[in-house]
Amino acid sequence: MTMAFKERSSTESPLDTALSQLRRAIEQLRLSESDWNTLSTPRRILEVAVPLRRDDGRVEMYKGYRVQYSTTRGPSKGGVRFHQNIDLDETVALAMLMTWKCALANLPYGGAKGGVAVDPAKLSLAENERLTRRYTSEILPIIGPERDIPAPDVGTDERNMAWMMDTYSVNAGFSVPGVVTGKPIVLGGSLGRTSATGDGVAILVREALKLKGIDPKGATVAIQGFGKVGYWAAIALEQMGLKVVAVSDASGGATGFDSVADLKKHVQESGNLSSVPGTDSLTNTELLHLGVDVLVPAALSDAITEATAPGIKAKIVVEGANAPTTPAGDAIMNDKGLFVIPDILANCGGVIVSYFEWVQDKQNYFWSAKEVKDNLNSILMRAIAEVSDKAKGEHLTWREAANMVGVARVAQAHHLRGLYP
Ligand code: GLU
Repeated sequence: MTMAFKERSSTESPLDTALSQLRRAIEQLRLSESDWNTLSTPRRILEVAVPLRRDDGRVEMYKGYRVQYSTTRGPSKGGVRFHQNIDLDETVALAMLMTWKCALANLPYGGAKGGVAVDPAKLSLAENERLTRRYTSEILPIIGPERDIPAPDVGTDERNMAWMMDTYSVNAGFSVPGVVTGKPIVLGGSLGRTSATGDGVAILVREALKLKGIDPKGATVAIQGFGKVGYWAAIALEQMGLKVVAVSDASGGATGFDSVADLKKHVQESGNLSSVPGTDSLTNTELLHLGVDVLVPAALSDAITEATAPGIKAKIVVEGANAPTTPAGDAIMNDKGLFVIPDILANCGGVIVSYFEWVQDKQNYFWSAKEVKDNLNSILMRAIAEVSDKAKGEHLTWREAANMVGVARVAQAHHLRGLYP
């Protein structure tokens, strides 16, 4: 499967983007050069070789990573990505974003990210299991419920989390559900975790529409991505009364369908979105340029760039993906007066319910779906209010305000803990 999303250029790497946003937040917060040195440096990086015995007996080697960007406010936390294009720089950038995201949601976590540079679509189920277990065993010394807690990300899901939990537990000699989140329910997963990131995106769309005075009933939305984030966001938005007019995956997009659930059924049968009978196809770029009320980039990084931003017609952009916008793309959207809800706020519903899962695992006491939903809503509403107040009070974009809230909280924790020795 070829990726329809833009290839990265060295000047627009996610790490450059993340560092330039951090630089700006540090300047706006009037923090010191020492703070910049502290906050721009990842704390622990592990690069591992992951050998895989293919089903036909051949042995292949893959590169794996785990980056613990920060542990200042608690154990580091973040997903594991299986994607052929990941590298260390991107993993560092995503681990940095997790740090500000957890701080913005005020979760007692630092930030981390990991992954293996592999195309999971090319692995059999048994190969995927062996790769997941070997990767887990390579990073075993640095993960754990009190150290660093992995979760699903692009290319991984609850099956991978079950294998990670089992590999860790077998080595510990007892069951350790709290070592990963996003697990199947029967292994100590949380109700509502599967849809949590999409549910959070939908809550942000709801609040953004309210602020713009647009009635959600009949408002239109286009979603780039139809995976763990895009699909669940589409379902939740449809339930809120919005009309989902187009969605896409790496194969391309579809428009002119009756309902998202119907579309999903076809995708499960035919494999991808570009060839669903009874729908019209469109490219990922065409989807970004549809005349809708809300655009949700919920796929990979670098979707909204210098090249694609000028054609965006939506009034509101809610970033379901991590780092979908380059600085140049962001500047163009701001000039056009678009209301952009940044990734660390828009998609933080996932890690919020991961936090609930970890709390439930620690207590061996499990919550109802309603408790999860209500608590997700209240944490998100608190974060939205903080960002909105800051943006309004200091005439900032929501991206600037969200970064400042997250970075300030981590900086304050550093100052209070002091430097050892
Ligand atoms: N991978 C998700 C993210 O980027 C979830 C991370 C987690 O739950 O730890 O936010």
